[in-house]
Amino acid sequence: MQDIQQVCILGATGSIGVSTLDVVSRHPDKFQVFAISGMRQLAKLAEQIKAFSPQYAVVPDQISATTLSDLLGVNKGKTKILQGKQALIDIACASEVDCVMSAIVGAAGLLPTLAAVKAGKRILLANKEALVMSGELFINAVNEHNAILVPIDSEHNAIFQCLPSDFIYGNKQASGISHLLLTGSGGPFRELPLDQFSEVTPKQACAHPNWSMGQKISVDSASMMNKGLEFIEAKWLFGFDEKDIQVVIHPQSTIHSMVQYVDGSVIAQMGNPDMRTPIAHGLGYPNRIESGVASLDFTQLANFSFTEACPKRFPNLFLAIQASKQGQAATTALNAANEVAVDAFLQGKINFSQINVVNDMTLQQQGHGQLTCIDTILEHDRLSRVAANQIVKELN
Ligand code: NAD
Ligand code: MG
Repeated sequence: MQDIQQVCILGATGSIGVSTLDVVSRHPDKFQVFAISGMRQLAKLAEQIKAFSPQYAVVPDQISATTLSDLLGVNKGKTKILQGKQALIDIACASEVDCVMSAIVGAAGLLPTLAAVKAGKRILLANKEALVMSGELFINAVNEHNAILVPIDSEHNAIFQCLPSDFIYGNKQASGISHLLLTGSGGPFRELPLDQFSEVTPKQACAHPNWSMGQKISVDSASMMNKGLEFIEAKWLFGFDEKDIQVVIHPQSTIHSMVQYVDGSVIAQMGNPDMRTPIAHGLGYPNRIESGVASLDFTQLANFSFTEACPKRFPNLFLAIQASKQGQAATTALNAANEVAVDAFLQGKINFSQINVVNDMTLQQQGHGQLTCIDTILEHDRLSRVAANQIVKELN
């Protein structure tokens, strides 16, 4: 009989975290939750602890630990409550852990995810910002420490499934691949008149037509920075040049991405837009396990359409492609700027169109040079946030 896999979920209270627990709960014979973490939604974290009895739960600080303890009362069971950034690293590389779901949003996920990589774990990577921030360093660490990296972002999981099983990193010729087709729905503003972009509210930006997701990625999807981050993510995950990755707008979100081969064949991965499919693929890989997602009914699909992304409508996508060509300092700066800009937009400090202004101006200031170690990456991230915050202030 196969051993039960011990799973650590970084960011268990978020959209991906909750979907991961849903899939795990369907397979008690295959997975046990070893550790979980949450930042703010402590009542939700308490419910997850009661349901899954992990060995450890990690919260950001002492106040949160006391609140969580009070919420659990006599139901605390065997779960030990830990606090702080080091505790996230500790649970991600604990010797008992087989598999780490990296589902913290933003740069905060980088260090625990990298720690899991260095511990040679199997990593299910949802946290795209970690890879955008640290690209080559992250991928080199995966190879050096024999970690197994399974992409969870639906597009990258789709490409992973469409590549040949003997695909050699970065060697598209050997596998007869022409290029990658990265699909995106175009988000809620695919048809919004361009002069109305500056009036978009956070509520409108967070209402994605096809996917239910956390706030930050929802805003990124509306601004298409999400597709930009994914472009950079694809480059590093599969070792492709920018010229070999094409973004295609596919509003129905049924095809999750494709691989075009030199003989004219295109292999696509399809399914209903529900993150439990890529999560189940990652948890079960190389086997298939049930996810709870309804199977796709082709007779109910209205139509499939595909268009090119327009630079005027989605300048963030093209800014990200430019940053990708510039190098690591540029993508680290862009990621930091975008986190600051999205936060400022959600707080009503800047309008929706100004997200691109903050990103563009920060990139101009901080987008140059190469970063080769984690300390310089973290310092560049910090400096880029300072620059982006200053730009937000000046826009106010
Ligand atoms: P979310 O906002 O719903 O959840 C984020 C999680 O991270 C929460 O558990 C939160 O407590 C935790 N967190 C936030 N800030 C933290 C910090 N500073 N320190 C420690 N923990 C922190 O986000 P989500 O939609 O689940 O997305 C998570 C990641 O997965 C993101 O990187 C996103 O881009 C990626 N992703 C999400 C989806 C999706 O459908 N939601 C799809 C593809 C990729
Ligand atoms: Mg995606």
